[in-house]
Amino acid sequence: MAVREQDVELIVRQILDQMGQAVPAPSVAKTSGTGIPSTAHVAMLTELGKFEIREYPMPEVGDNDILVKVEGCGVCGTDAHEFKNDPFGMIPFVPGHEGTGEIVKMGKNVKKDSAGKDLNVGDKVVTCMIFKDNPDITMFDLNKQNVGGADVYGLLPDDDIHLNGWFADYILVRGGSTIFNVSDLDLDSRILIEPCAVLIHAVERAKTTNILKFNSRVAVQGCGPTGLICIAILRTMGIENITAVDGNQQRLEFAKRLGATRTVNFMEHQGIEALTKAVEDSFDGHLADFAFQCTGNPKAHANIYKFIRNGGGLCELGFFINGGDAQINPHFDLCAKEITLVGSWVYTLRDYATTFDFLKRAKGIGLPMAELITHRYPLEQINEALKKNLEMTGLKIAMVNE
Ligand SMILES: [Zn+2]
Repeated sequence: MAVREQDVELIVRQILDQMGQAVPAPSVAKTSGTGIPSTAHVAMLTELGKFEIREYPMPEVGDNDILVKVEGCGVCGTDAHEFKNDPFGMIPFVPGHEGTGEIVKMGKNVKKDSAGKDLNVGDKVVTCMIFKDNPDITMFDLNKQNVGGADVYGLLPDDDIHLNGWFADYILVRGGSTIFNVSDLDLDSRILIEPCAVLIHAVERAKTTNILKFNSRVAVQGCGPTGLICIAILRTMGIENITAVDGNQQRLEFAKRLGATRTVNFMEHQGIEALTKAVEDSFDGHLADFAFQCTGNPKAHANIYKFIRNGGGLCELGFFINGGDAQINPHFDLCAKEITLVGSWVYTLRDYATTFDFLKRAKGIGLPMAELITHRYPLEQINEALKKNLEMTGLKIAMVNE
């Protein structure tokens, strides 16, 4: 039987007590005792297209802070935009916000995560956007109220601690941050939490139309990670009639394994009429009751109205960033068909909690979610990871330590 570390400490303490020797006071911070190195490494984006691995002294862990050993972090489109163009003017900084890892040390005041779950050294965690005043606030509300924007690790300016992003081997989660204990999820699932939360939010937006039902015919346009995760969520909800639309046969095959019942390869259909007919055929002669637009292509936005029946619904979530103007005919596409349209962007903290449950359900019904992560790179090869992401030949690219 293995003796736990705490037990050993207790026994030693008792023996020393009995021997009448002075016992050293316990350290203030709780640590795993698994040897935290004296330095940490981060991938600092120092100029466009170039990360440098920098080494810094391991920071002090304050009474409200948590030191996390990074296990992995997904590469997001946002990271790729920063790598290429630095639209937020952040350089130099440490990116990576889709990260997860294990608590190795925490301040004495840290007891619970943001959902009220116990936190202990050894727990696996993720961080989330920090909405300081209202936990249900959406990014849209936040911008509208001009509260000053949400903070997120991986999009913080560099400071004297430097451990601000998940492209690192250690990160210091400071007091007041949003953190969740996700010890009951495996590493791949944890790396997928952030992108999945975007889709959980989109489906919640879709549900507000009251058009999305168990027996709905649903078209999902675009089979990148966004569309594929959308299909998986619909499947775990019990929606059975899903058509995936994309131009890449390999992605369409994967869409089937994640829950799509039929697929339409737009490369095989010339013109919008033929494409609409193919979607209609996939639903045995019916148009879609509801559609999710998951590409960042304005042409795709214009096309998708044709796939939807009169009185149907549409969730547009592909334009995470500005992809330009789309041309539709408001009379034919929206008014005459009485389409109910919702837009979706980012997520709320509540969506995060829903995402943890979704990932467990997806695993429970055998959806191959982990295969969404097609490429893994160690921290030292972060430049290659970002280049791979920009190539757009894989699905989810991830940095994985060890
Ligand atoms: Zn992201």
